[in-house]
Amino acid sequence: MASVANTASAPTTEEILAIVRRFWGFENLRPLQAEAIRAGLDRRDSLVVMPTGGGKSLCYQVPPAVAGRTDIVVSPLIALMKDQVDALRACGYPAAALHSGMDPAQQRQIEAEIAAGNHHLIFVAPERMLTPRFLELAHRLRVSTFAIDEAHCISHWGHDFRPEYRQLAELKTRFRHASVHAYTATATGRVRRDIVEQLGLSDPAVLVGSFDRPNLLYRVIPKLRVDEQVEETLARHRGEAAIVYCITRKDTEAMAEYLRLVGLRAAHYHAGMEPEERRRTQDRFAAEEIDVVVATVAFGMGIDRSDIRCVIHSAMPKSIEHYQQETGRAGRDGLPAECVLFYSAADLLRWHGLIERSAAQAGAPADVVENGRQLLEEMRRFATVVRCRHAMLSSYFGEEYPRNNCAACDLCLGEVEGAADSTLLAQKILSCVARVEQRFGVEHVVDVLLGADNERVRRLRHNELSTYRLLHNMPRKNVTNAVYQLIDARVLERTPGDRPVLKLNAASWEVMRGKRAVTLIEAKKPRAARTAMEQAAWREVDEALFESLRALRREIALERGVPAYVIFHDSTLRELAQLKPATMEGLRNLRGIGERKIADFGARVIERIAAYERGKVNVGGAQDAG
Ligand code: ADP
Repeated sequence: MASVANTASAPTTEEILAIVRRFWGFENLRPLQAEAIRAGLDRRDSLVVMPTGGGKSLCYQVPPAVAGRTDIVVSPLIALMKDQVDALRACGYPAAALHSGMDPAQQRQIEAEIAAGNHHLIFVAPERMLTPRFLELAHRLRVSTFAIDEAHCISHWGHDFRPEYRQLAELKTRFRHASVHAYTATATGRVRRDIVEQLGLSDPAVLVGSFDRPNLLYRVIPKLRVDEQVEETLARHRGEAAIVYCITRKDTEAMAEYLRLVGLRAAHYHAGMEPEERRRTQDRFAAEEIDVVVATVAFGMGIDRSDIRCVIHSAMPKSIEHYQQETGRAGRDGLPAECVLFYSAADLLRWHGLIERSAAQAGAPADVVENGRQLLEEMRRFATVVRCRHAMLSSYFGEEYPRNNCAACDLCLGEVEGAADSTLLAQKILSCVARVEQRFGVEHVVDVLLGADNERVRRLRHNELSTYRLLHNMPRKNVTNAVYQLIDARVLERTPGDRPVLKLNAASWEVMRGKRAVTLIEAKKPRAARTAMEQAAWREVDEALFESLRALRREIALERGVPAYVIFHDSTLRELAQLKPATMEGLRNLRGIGERKIADFGARVIERIAAYERGKVNVGGAQDAG
């Protein structure tokens, strides 16, 4: 049924681009943004699925600005709303949020602004959306378009189910002529169908973007001494933003402590902290006071820093969806970023234990537990199968990967090598399992192989076995990792339960008889040098000027009390440090600076570049003179 408000002629592409240029300074729309914006303007229900960093927000920000109306965005977290409103205001775009963090006077003021039609977008939490007070306001404003951000929160098949989202099913009955537009980065078909059904979308435009993130470099490295490995990885990203994910709260605290000891600006973050403390960490990260956050999965949704250059998983996450979401926080500005997963099957087994325990406690139905196991298995496959990581992720999300060599994963870069003597090493480990009569766990077998001189080994007279000390010249972590790789490769079994024991299977005997080869992956250090992709992103960029502009960005952000990335993205700073515009006119040709930002900060940027250039001349002159 045609709506009352929808009688004006449809805006042209040129009109849409004029708005995009004016507020954001972008020259083009990305794939699918045009279609999604069109759905918003036509007020046809839609489901838009794009990976993190794909540019979903623009899809619901543009239509109300083009149509001159007020739309509502439902968003799950206050931090997310605040960030978006800050970023929009810095572009001169009128938007407001109503949330529980405001005092009543502030709320009344915002409500008055909204009622006066001053804003294009209003951000609200799902529980507020359906309060009588807010419904009344929305009706009074004749709101006709709703955007649901992070729409997967409505589905309990997703990884972030929020019961409050379920109430949004009422939107379609309470606003009979309104269109509803769902946005998510979660790609599984089941969740998508659930979103459409729960929200009651009618004949929605379903727009699914590509899930590949070409600017992300994926590495999976056998996990040995993980704190040192994390430190080495972060050394490639000195002074840059990074997130390190851990499984447990305790792990985050210990890792953050270690990183501080080695001189990094790091803090931990998990759901067990006081809300105040959590917010402080988040704020310090946004303000660039700390570079590294070590976190559990609890850290993520509210964090919108676009210049995260590195995401590390110190242990494997429990599903590819989690992995994709968490690594997706890297490089949202489109510049190269590195994602490293330190993998050990020991963590896989740890997850199995955690799932079983929490299922037993919560009385979860069998299919939920089974679902959890399958997700883990997919994640394990991702970490262990020797195939381009971009291609693996694409195929998991039902896409065909178009290239043979992505040039952006450890496999395609030729960094992954099997140890030359893999099969021999496997034979040694397996024969030790045979010698101890398949009655012991990983630790004891490793003890024997290393030649440990402890009470248990002596009592069992395992120091007399032929396999005793067979691997005494290898570091313990490497032997343990090799054992878990054999379990992963299914040429060795580990019994379930509290006291797991290593057992041989038919494949083990084939290996021992030399009828089957095994490839064990070595933890090679990635080259410290930048990859070709990273080099390209720095080409002709004056890095010292980039740092100077970064400092200016921090200054401005501090003055305005907003996060630095709200002022400019790194991509804009790099372009500035490459082109070094000397006039306001020169700024207009840059990406990511709209009219408001030119008016607000343009002069300071030009001045900073000029001062930098003068400084170079002076320094050079002084050298010449000396
Ligand atoms: P999502 O919500 O899908 O995770 P965002 O909306 O935050 O992604 O967009 C990711 C980044 O891409 C932001 O830095 C945004 O400014 C930028 N971006 C979005 N659309 C465009 C565009 N058409 N041209 C250039 N940059 C864009």
